[in-house]
Amino acid sequence: MALVYDMFIDGQWVHSVSEETMEVRCPADQSLVATVAKANSDDVDVAVQAARKAFDKDEWSSYLNAPIRADYLRKIATILHEEVDRLAELESLSSGKPIMETSMIDIHLAADCFSYYADLASHIGGRQVPLAQQVLDFTLREPIGVIGMIVPFNFPLLLASFKVAPALAAGNTIVLKPSEYTPLTVLELAHICNRIGIPDGVLNVITGFGKDAGEALVQHTEVDKVSFTGSTATGQRIMELCAKTLKKVTLELGGKGPNIVFADCNLDQAVSGVMTGAFMNQGEVCIAGTRVYVERPIWDQFVSQFLTRVKKLKVGHPLSWDTNMGSLISQQQLDKVEYFVSRGIAQGGHLLCGGKRPTDPELAAGFFYEPTVFIDVPADADICQEEIFGPVIVILPFSGEAEAVALANQSKYGLAGGVWTQDIKKGLRMARRLQLGTVWINNYSMLRVEAPFGGYKQSGMGRELGIEGLLDYTQVKNVYVELEDEILYLYD
Ligand code: NAD
Repeated sequence: MALVYDMFIDGQWVHSVSEETMEVRCPADQSLVATVAKANSDDVDVAVQAARKAFDKDEWSSYLNAPIRADYLRKIATILHEEVDRLAELESLSSGKPIMETSMIDIHLAADCFSYYADLASHIGGRQVPLAQQVLDFTLREPIGVIGMIVPFNFPLLLASFKVAPALAAGNTIVLKPSEYTPLTVLELAHICNRIGIPDGVLNVITGFGKDAGEALVQHTEVDKVSFTGSTATGQRIMELCAKTLKKVTLELGGKGPNIVFADCNLDQAVSGVMTGAFMNQGEVCIAGTRVYVERPIWDQFVSQFLTRVKKLKVGHPLSWDTNMGSLISQQQLDKVEYFVSRGIAQGGHLLCGGKRPTDPELAAGFFYEPTVFIDVPADADICQEEIFGPVIVILPFSGEAEAVALANQSKYGLAGGVWTQDIKKGLRMARRLQLGTVWINNYSMLRVEAPFGGYKQSGMGRELGIEGLLDYTQVKNVYVELEDEILYLYD
């Protein structure tokens, strides 16, 4: 039987003001997973006012409460670990992600994020500024206030945790809007917060569509900062809307990851890493390594080994343990993938595998797509430049470091990329020259909660994770204390 969820506002589970609801369906077979409340601007307003009230009370946000906030975060982490099986299943059902990924990575990493920021909560401090002896000057790191958070469908709970954990650690209050496709695990996070007794109004979750609930949240005058993860196009719209009230913004946006394989790499390792980087989460990953550059001396060997491995990937139901790639999120996303594949062929690309939906009748009702590999595509073709957000990659040859750098940097995006070489000096030279927020050397897709993550160029602004991700939820106040009695004022 389908689940039913209300929204979590001011410590209460409530219907939407309009009483409207929306459906969450499993993208793998269209079965109804849940019915959830559908928010519009009225609900956003109630939620933001609750967050404002909770912030202004000072109990939550005051610096002295950091150990108490840390305690809550630790409790959330513990429950996430304890309930990983249930949460992973819910995540896979609504997002189409393979259960192997949600149960082994997503939920545990979300829990790690809460533990990490619990440890940092009491260490948020300012600095003393050395001035003349008769002056004491220091800075305070204060929470920003009410944070409006909007997250996408591809890692629903995980990406929400990347925001919620540091924002709470720093003493902010939150109104969080998950994707309309995948609100369930974020609502479960609200359930956990309710169970552990987080004060009313500190975390509010509203469920609804971007145009209604999302835009109302971004434009609300009582929201002090917007933290958004999603497409570059939506990020541009959000920045435009935030400009009207000069809200602070963190934007985690799209990508088109270059993955550079040098001839001196460990080939087996590189093949596995490139495959994971390309097809994990059926390619619906912002950091997906979808532009693979292979140095000419190992071109034949790499391509042949890679294809043999890719052809063994199993596309299947997200709840099957042997599934490597699940279902795309929606018909719209499937249409987008099919459009780009046809563009790739039209622009001269040669398909090595995939390029179609699987023929297995058991998958006919879902938005499945085969892993797809193109070669012989001009570097400026659409499929080399645009984020497809599906299991479609290009492999192109290069000769030497300079050409690899030029090809990799030929992109409006700058989120993350990889370099495969056993020459560490070469790897480090490449890391410096790549215009990317994250560079992996001999690895790919490895996100650690301790390390900052975010985009160069049109992949975003601000950072999540690490100490940087915490500081992005604080603002700096300078305090100047005059210790001298005899001061010469300008207007004495
Ligand atoms: P999207 O931009 O369509 O939607 C993301 C969220 O924004 C959803 O909650 C949606 O309801 C909301 N939204 C949509 N229009 C809005 C508007 N006008 N105002 C306010 N909110 C609005 O993105 P998506 O399809 O859900 O996710 C895929 C995109 O997210 C890809 O581009 C991917 O690269 C990006 N992404 C980036 C990161 C990162 O950390 N850089 C991580 C994951 C995904």
